Amino acid sequence: MGKIKVGFGFDVHQLKKDHPFVLGGVKLEHHAGAYGHSDADVLLHAICDALLGAANLRDIGFHFSNKDDRWKGISSLVLLQHVVALIKEKGFTIGNIDAMVCLEAPKINPHIPEMKTYIAEAAAINEEDISIKATTNEQMGFIGREEGVVAYAVCLIERG
Ligand SMILES: [Zn+2]
Repeated sequence: MGKIKVGFGFDVHQLKKDHPFVLGGVKLEHHAGAYGHSDADVLLHAICDALLGAANLRDIGFHFSNKDDRWKGISSLVLLQHVVALIKEKGFTIGNIDAMVCLEAPKINPHIPEMKTYIAEAAAINEEDISIKATTNEQMGFIGREEGVVAYAVCLIERG
């Protein structure tokens, strides 16, 4: 039997007024958006960290420093492609990804199918192996005040 490993990822970004909001590769229509060095795609960053963690390849900040101009404003789908290449170099393939986004607004459920399409393409896996879920924070804390957005992800990788 091959080796199976699990990984966990977490990310958080500030929401700023009149800033673009990219989530799961989809540009959301909203009065505020996630702010950061790349496109601040909190969902893809959590997924990247879960994959890197599973393969014991440190974290997203190690591979894509926010002091490196190569990653300034870059689509996080490109970062995901890099991460998938790194785990493939170690002989792993992705089993599945399960992710959770926590934000108050906008509603992201209508956009989840499109997110899955982008993620499946960037990671070269089937949409069936990607789960994206969403919840609010019941109006509590910084998420409830719409000051930030959080994402969690777990993934399973395997080596034959
Ligand atoms: Zn991030």
